[in-house]
Amino acid sequence: KLPIVALCGRPNVGKSTLFNRLTRSRAALVHDLPGMTRDRSYGRVTCLDEAGEAEEVFQLVDTGGLDFGGDDIITRGITRIAEGAMEEAHVLLLMVDAHDGWNPVDAEIAARIRAKGKPAILVVNKIDGVRGGSPDGAFYELGFDEIHVLSASHGDGVPELLAAIRARL
Ligand code: GDP
Ligand code: MG
Repeated sequence: KLPIVALCGRPNVGKSTLFNRLTRSRAALVHDLPGMTRDRSYGRVTCLDEAGEAEEVFQLVDTGGLDFGGDDIITRGITRIAEGAMEEAHVLLLMVDAHDGWNPVDAEIAARIRAKGKPAILVVNKIDGVRGGSPDGAFYELGFDEIHVLSASHGDGVPELLAAIRARL
């Protein structure tokens, strides 16, 4: 059975874009509308082993966006689903949006992730859209030991993140 890695974060930060890049699939819908992914989506991430053979290394779960803002029935359902994904996962990723900057919802999700007591990595996405290339310093105060700055759509920093995930499995 493959270990599970859950990709958490508020809507529109780029979770599905990273999911598609790592699983090389179109399984997750990428959309400009926040909250486009309405369910958990699973994909297998494959790496090359020492002999150059493709080897499945973990399952990635694209959570539908933890939305703590609304209390309508659909949002509550999504939050429950995302909690379930965090429960079953071995490693938790929190993705934030460097172009938008720090958002209070990021801190709420970070607290939920910390409460799980599992290996966790902060993924600062959309660095291509940041002038000067340095993310908001507030991200460094979210309490993560490990932070990766990348661009899910361009691919910069993604191999380094993949190596970091594998080291935590
Ligand atoms: P999700 O709601 O977290 O799954 O976010 P999506 O993957 O659907 O992406 C939301 C929007 O952000 C889409 O328009 C993506 O093309 C865009 N996006 C994702 N990653 C990047 C990135 O690295 N850089 C930039 N500039 N845009 C990105
Ligand atoms: Mg999505």
